[in-house]
Amino acid sequence: MSEACEQMLREIEQEVQLTANRTGCHRLRPAVVEALRRVPRERFVPPELAAQAYVNRPLPIGRNQTISQPYIVAIMTELIDPGPDDRVLEIGTGCGYQAAVLAEVVDTIYSIESIPELGEAAAERLAELGYDNIHVRIGNGRAGWPDAAPFDGILVTAGAEDVPAALIEQLAPGGTLVIPVGAGRWGQQLRRVHKDAAGAVHSEDLLAVAFVPLTHG
Ligand code: SAH
Repeated sequence: MSEACEQMLREIEQEVQLTANRTGCHRLRPAVVEALRRVPRERFVPPELAAQAYVNRPLPIGRNQTISQPYIVAIMTELIDPGPDDRVLEIGTGCGYQAAVLAEVVDTIYSIESIPELGEAAAERLAELGYDNIHVRIGNGRAGWPDAAPFDGILVTAGAEDVPAALIEQLAPGGTLVIPVGAGRWGQQLRRVHKDAAGAVHSEDLLAVAFVPLTHG
């Protein structure tokens, strides 16, 4: 699988450069590239799709849900400006791939999935792969994870109509939330919401994206 993975990394870097004027990111930091290299993506897709695991595209994972496109996983990870001591909340565990990539870069991940079957399978898979710094919970991610807050970064991996207030509340000063926002199924803007040291919130829309919807639970 390693040549396929290197090819995926080259395609991701090209797309990062093509979108740099919108995202402000010209290159992935080495820690993110290394994370993408280390996480065995073929373990996160259905067995019959293993041959396509390193194609730079989203793939179906069952229950009408998808594993995000590798470029999207990379740029979302990059956009929260991840640091090794960070605690990060993810909404929409899905198969657990984004959580695994984050877990290679930051200290601790809290991830919430609304579909029990997917969340339980992801938790099992992540444990098998040895990720002991990822906590998965079944529930409605719109409420966040108050007991573990505040978070240095929050990633929402499903398309929302609005930014849930609980998530902004649970963001630490200096923290960044990245969330696809938009009304239609096939169109959202990837929004970056930064909370400054004084607690003031600044938002910018960076990129057109297409995510499955964030449900109301
Ligand atoms: N992070 C995944 C992509 C997941 S797709 C990856 O690494 O590829 C989006 C996921 O969000 C789906 O599994 C869906 O069931 C979940 N989801 C949708 N609405 C949700 C909600 N309100 N709370 C928690 N999870 C939700």
